[in-house]
Amino acid sequence: MARSGVRTTVKVRIKAEVITTRKRRRLEQITGRDTRTIKQYLKVIYHNEEQLVNKKKGKKKVSKAKLDHLTLTTYKKSKLPNRLTVRHDLKKNFPRRSQNEFQECRENAVAIYHGQQASNSAPAKNPPLKKIPRTQLAHSKRFILTCSPSNSIARWWVGIRDSLDTKKNRTHKHEKLWLPLACSPYHEHSLHQGKIQALEVLYYPKKKEWWVHFILLHVPDKYFSSRPPAVLGIDLGINKRAVSALLTPKGTINRHEIRFWSDKTRKKLLKEKERKITELQKILAKTSLSVNKRKSLLHQLKQLRKRERTEYKLTDHNYVNKLVKYILSVGKRYDLYVVVGFPFHIRKSHFRGNFHPRSRKSIHKWNYRRVVELLKFKLSLHGWEEHRVLAISESWTSSYCSRCGSYHTIRPNQPTFICNTCGYNLNADLNGAKNIAKRLIKYVLQPKYNSIKDQVSGKFFPLSSFRVFPVLSQWLQTKQSHLLTPGAGVSA
Ligand SMILES: [Zn+2]
Repeated sequence: MARSGVRTTVKVRIKAEVITTRKRRRLEQITGRDTRTIKQYLKVIYHNEEQLVNKKKGKKKVSKAKLDHLTLTTYKKSKLPNRLTVRHDLKKNFPRRSQNEFQECRENAVAIYHGQQASNSAPAKNPPLKKIPRTQLAHSKRFILTCSPSNSIARWWVGIRDSLDTKKNRTHKHEKLWLPLACSPYHEHSLHQGKIQALEVLYYPKKKEWWVHFILLHVPDKYFSSRPPAVLGIDLGINKRAVSALLTPKGTINRHEIRFWSDKTRKKLLKEKERKITELQKILAKTSLSVNKRKSLLHQLKQLRKRERTEYKLTDHNYVNKLVKYILSVGKRYDLYVVVGFPFHIRKSHFRGNFHPRSRKSIHKWNYRRVVELLKFKLSLHGWEEHRVLAISESWTSSYCSRCGSYHTIRPNQPTFICNTCGYNLNADLNGAKNIAKRLIKYVLQPKYNSIKDQVSGKFFPLSSFRVFPVLSQWLQTKQSHLLTPGAGVSA
């Protein structure tokens, strides 16, 4: 992503079926005249290639000033040295064209020439009759885009200023040519994404449709904050309920900010309730029970399961409250983003027959979605924006090394993680938490898509909401180049 901004094009159809014949004719006149002017400019460039084109570093470049000397006369009033006669007088051919329009046509012609040189294609002797659009720039107020919600013909209109009305004795009367646009909510949304820089009016002869192309510039705002940016990666677990690791602006994991969140009361509760339920189930399995007894036992079992569920919820609340308290305390010191690894395929992969029954059972009882949702909700009560608490896919984060990125790793038992490439030895869940924090930065720095999806809410957040990360992750480009090579351990 370039720092100076990203250009995109938004294409909107003109509602040609509702505009008047006069307007349509004028549209044809304007675009036709643009095409002729651009073609003349191109002709002049090709005729005077030796004089106009400089070779710089093997690239041919047209000198625009020299091109003006060949094509445009100057007014007597202007400060420029008087140029009353030129070799190819364009003003004679197009007497009612304004200076701005000549400039826009010149830019287009030069761009076309450069494109032809880059692709080594010779100019066609008889160029096709296709129309060449002129890029009209926004900064000189060449056009206006307005919204009129009460208008019955179209909600969005573009007004194009054109000098076609200029009288020959230079009395300026620039009426705007107002064109209705077929603007859908999608177009409206994309037009609001950036600043409109330029516009092109095109005709598609096959479709017989007129279109407007808006060229937008997205400039990321500069990042200002009194606090340094940081990412808190959280790896959810079953026995250890979570592990969190803080990735600081230096790009290292803060040793004092590693937290293991376990919940002993919940574990106890789980065992106790399981025991009671299995006891009841054993009694129920007996065949010698009376009908009434069985009924009451079933009722007991139902009540027990209900109570189990509510108590689970309570422990979840307690545990998330602790997490929120910690996150808020870190958030005072850092400009913090929280990212939670979300194991959204884990239930699908644990089906009957492929894992140990006990691990399968615990995984299917694991309420990771409720935990993440609670965390998001509770932080939102403290005024946290939605994109600051993200759930992203945690796939493979526990199987590659967080220091060197190698997959050549082993886990001799559940908690230990050893990298065979660099010899890194640490807690496996901590390794996962580190990888999750780094993965978010990788998503931003090496974007495959324009947005990041939150796995829990399903919402998409544009990359511009994470503009803090280029600051945070400058080290990534230098130290951890493996994270920036494609395919390094990320399933999209
Ligand atoms: Zn390693």
